[in-house]
Amino acid sequence: MKHRITQNDLLRRLPQERLSLLRELGNLADEGGVALYLVGGVVRDLLLKRENWDLDLTVEGDGIAFARLVADRYRAGLAVFERFATARLEFPDGLKLDIATTRRESYAQPAVLPTVQPASIEEDLYRRDFTINAIAMQLNSGQFGRLLDVYRGRRDLRARTIRVLHAGSFQDDPTRIFRAIRFEQRFGFRLERTTARLLAQAASTNLIQQLSGPRLQNEILLLFAEHDPVRAIARLRQLKLLRFLHRCLCYTTKVKRVVTAVPKAFSWWARRFPDSVIDRPIVYLMALSSESSAVVVAAMIRRLVLSREQAKNVSAGGRWVDRALKRLTNKGTVRPSQVYRLLEDFSSEVLVLLLAKQVSAQHGVRLSLLKRHLVAYVKNKAIKTALTGRDLQAMGLRPGPQYKIILGKLLEARIDGMIKTEADERAFVQNHWV
Ligand code: ATP
Repeated sequence: MKHRITQNDLLRRLPQERLSLLRELGNLADEGGVALYLVGGVVRDLLLKRENWDLDLTVEGDGIAFARLVADRYRAGLAVFERFATARLEFPDGLKLDIATTRRESYAQPAVLPTVQPASIEEDLYRRDFTINAIAMQLNSGQFGRLLDVYRGRRDLRARTIRVLHAGSFQDDPTRIFRAIRFEQRFGFRLERTTARLLAQAASTNLIQQLSGPRLQNEILLLFAEHDPVRAIARLRQLKLLRFLHRCLCYTTKVKRVVTAVPKAFSWWARRFPDSVIDRPIVYLMALSSESSAVVVAAMIRRLVLSREQAKNVSAGGRWVDRALKRLTNKGTVRPSQVYRLLEDFSSEVLVLLLAKQVSAQHGVRLSLLKRHLVAYVKNKAIKTALTGRDLQAMGLRPGPQYKIILGKLLEARIDGMIKTEADERAFVQNHWV
C-alpha cells in the first residue's frame, strides 16, 4: 500500500450488495440511536484487498437490541448469547452476521475466558489481539465508511507488521501466540520487535498448558487449515511450541520430510479424485505425529479432545500405515483384492498420509507403483457383488458367519476380475460351497 487509501477506494472494494446491506444497517443503527461499526478481520482484509465474507459488527450501545431490530426488519434467524452480549443472525439468503456489544474484558487469571462489561468502541478495540485486527469502520449514515484506527493498525499493515496492543496480551490470552503465527504466515508479515520478544517469553512458560483442550485444538487445527501449514509447523518447532501437543512428540528429520511432502500428496490426490473431501488439518496432525509412539499419540488425542473420527485417523497414522506401505511398494505382485483388503479400513485422510510418506521417501519407482495401487483401489471400492445373503439362502446355504466369508470371497474374485457376472458368482458359490 504505497499511497493513502481513501474512504471511497475502500468502499469500492466491497461487492455491491454487501455495500447496500451495510448502508441499510447503518441507517437502522441511526433509527435505533446506536453507533455501529464493522470490525476485525473484515476491515483488515478490505485494506489488504483480500476477500473476507465474515461480517463482524459491533454496536456501541445495546448490541442485542439492535440485532433484534435487524432480525425483525430482514426476517432473519436470530441466536442470542446473553452472557457474551453477542448475537448471530442468519438472513433468508444464507448470509450470516455476528453482532456484538462493544466491551472491555478483564482476565481474572491468565489463559481463562475473560469477564466482559459494556464499554466504548475505543476500549473494545483495545481488547483485541493485534493492531491490524483493531481497526473499525463506522456504518452510521453520516459517518459511513469512516475508519477508526486508534492503535495505528494501518501503519502496521503498511509495514507488514504484527503488533500486540499491550505487554500483557499473550499472558491474558495465550491463544494469541498461535493467532500471531497464523497471521504472520498467512500474510508473510513479521512480528514487531517487542511483540516477538513478548511472544517468545510467553511461549517459554507453561501458559499454553493452561488452555482448555477445545481451545488448544481450535488454534492448532486453524493453523493447520491455513494455505501453507508447513511453514507454520516450522515456526511452532522453532518456538518450541510442539511440546504442548505432547512433550515427547517425536519431530525427526523423517517427520519433517513427511510434513513437507503433505502438500504434494494433497495436490496429486485432488487432481485424481476431485470429489473427495479431505480433513486437511488432521492430515498435518497425522504427519506430525507419524513417528511418535502409540502412547504419545493417544495422549495428544486426549489433550486436544479430538472427535472420535479425528482420533481414529490420527491413531491409524503410525504402524498400520507403514505396514500397508511396505506391502504395497515392495517387489512382488500384489493382487487388486489384496490391495483392497490392505486399504479398506483407511479413510481418505490416512491414504493421503500414506502417499505423503512415500513422496517423502523419494523413491520414484515405488511412488508410481503406490499411485497406481491407489487409483485402482479407489475404482475397485465401488465394486459390489450381485448376490446377497438372501440369494445364498435361496441356494440352500444355512445362514451363519460363513455368509460373510463367502460374500467376501466373491467380492475379491470380482475385484481380481476372475468373475464378472451374476451367473459367474452363482457358479463360484456352487463350486466352492454348495
Ligand atoms: P480470520 O481471517 O482467520 O477469520 P479474523 O481476524 O477475522 O481472522 P476471528 O477469529 O474471526 O479472526 O476474530 C474476529 C476478530 O475478533 C479479530 O479480528 C480480532 O479483532 C478479534 N479477536 C479474535 N480472537 C481474539 C483473541 N483471542 N484476542 C483478542 N481479539 C480477538
